[in-house]
Amino acid sequence: MNTTDSHEKNSVLIVDDQPNNIHTLGTLIKDDYKVMVTTSGSKALEIAQSDNPPDLILLDIMMPEMDGYEVCRRLKSNEQTNSIPVIFVTAMDSAEDEEKGFNLGAVDYISKPFNPTIVRARIKTHMNLKIKTDMLEKLSMQDGLTAIPNRRFFDESLSKEWSRCTRNGFPLSLLIMDIDNFKLYNDNYGHGAGDNCLIKVAGAIKNTLQRPTDMAARYGGEEFVVLLPETDAAGAVHVAQGLRKAVQGLGITHQHSPTASVVTISVGASTHCLESPAKNKEQLLKWADEALYRAKEMGRNQVQSA
Ligand code: GH3
Ligand code: MG
Ligand code: MG
Repeated sequence: MNTTDSHEKNSVLIVDDQPNNIHTLGTLIKDDYKVMVTTSGSKALEIAQSDNPPDLILLDIMMPEMDGYEVCRRLKSNEQTNSIPVIFVTAMDSAEDEEKGFNLGAVDYISKPFNPTIVRARIKTHMNLKIKTDMLEKLSMQDGLTAIPNRRFFDESLSKEWSRCTRNGFPLSLLIMDIDNFKLYNDNYGHGAGDNCLIKVAGAIKNTLQRPTDMAARYGGEEFVVLLPETDAAGAVHVAQGLRKAVQGLGITHQHSPTASVVTISVGASTHCLESPAKNKEQLLKWADEALYRAKEMGRNQVQSA
């Protein structure tokens, strides 16, 4: 997704076995987009699945080895690549060919010889749609207040990590944390200050996590969750303590808290591992929730593990 970085151009991958054709199309769009090129269908699939996929693909049909229809079919059947719009650019101009292209999931079909101005306009239209779709997708997974992932994103991540970790015999840890005495904070400092506090706490949680696979999300009102793949129980408690200290370290004054003079959190930790396997991901969540409840019971501003 290239939507947030406005400095970088969106990218287009041109796939055609004829270097001439690549050159013609490339010249046409190189001022507007970052252009990637390949003469092979299998290479195109590789680029689409890489960490730096194109935003849009211009695809020839007649190619040796793997034709454009097959490339499109594979792109559309792979979850990782199926949202990349494909435009066929081809000399095959029968209605059947065009219909086949659309049936395979292409967004547009351009027959050669083409009118350069119209081709550019069509590419622009589809690129703008792609940018908007990416933006919506991103927003639907993000918490509006704190800009960290939301519960929906977390639930998806938990499902994925649960499958991956159980399949590979890796441990999976989960933290649920809740701001202590937050009702009192809101009551005394106002809802706006409460919102600012949530933003700061979310930032501290996000910044404290070390591994790229660790994931924090806002779970509900003043509750946050952290997913720690391939992390055992001791590791989870270590991270949880780090998060607790980071929030306390923000030094957000909370004069009315019976727990501390600043805003604090309580954390519940749970771990699925070979020694103590959870039945399912719901049980893992339940364990963390019960541990959080104990942390509250035992005086708040602390970590308890299942
Ligand atoms: P405990 O230590 O047991 O967690 O006590 P608490 O007061 O934090 O817990 P309680 O569940 O009673 O209160 C949670 C408060 O969080 C109440 C609600 O007004 C506040 N809250 C939830 N979501 C938001 C939000 O988005 N913004 C603001 N400002 N406050 C919120
Ligand atoms: Mg609460
Ligand atoms: Mg609370």
